[in-house]
Amino acid sequence: MPFTPLHMGPGMATKAVLGRRFSLVAFGVSQILIDLEPLIRIFRGDAILHGVTHTYAGAIPIALLAMPLTRWLYPWLARFANYQVSAHQLHWLRIAPRAGWPAIAAGSLIGTLSHVLLDSFMHSDMRPLAPIVEGNALLFSISLNALHLGCVLAGALGLLLWFGRTLFHRSARGNTAGHD
Ligand SMILES: [Zn+2]
Repeated sequence: MPFTPLHMGPGMATKAVLGRRFSLVAFGVSQILIDLEPLIRIFRGDAILHGVTHTYAGAIPIALLAMPLTRWLYPWLARFANYQVSAHQLHWLRIAPRAGWPAIAAGSLIGTLSHVLLDSFMHSDMRPLAPIVEGNALLFSISLNALHLGCVLAGALGLLLWFGRTLFHRSARGNTAGHD
């Protein structure tokens, strides 16, 4: 994916479906971590940008790294986000003050594995199943426009569903329980 933020579309859709069992913050942290390798390689002028981080085998250790990092960062991010929404009187958008390990694990693992899957469609230097299988059967199997549109649509639908769920829970329980 040329733009890491596009990966957040499928992340938002997953959040809408799994709710509090899935940490969108962990998903976002994993997107940044996994794209550090191509970013560094761009600056170094390497011929191959997507190396071991963009394999399924490499995605798992990155997810394991994202988990404690998210757990550590989360309270600060939540405090910042909640300050912003409270300042705008949007208390119902407050997020939970901390995220549990299962939600963080789900967000991190789904984050890195889905990242490798989506990037496999477009990066010719990727070997997603290395070191077991060389090559990339998914490469260019769908168009770049379709891939980007799919990510944007997934994000839009996910956002709509998430808003619907949040408003439903708010009116059903009448509290300000947050999301992570
Ligand atoms: Zn990537």
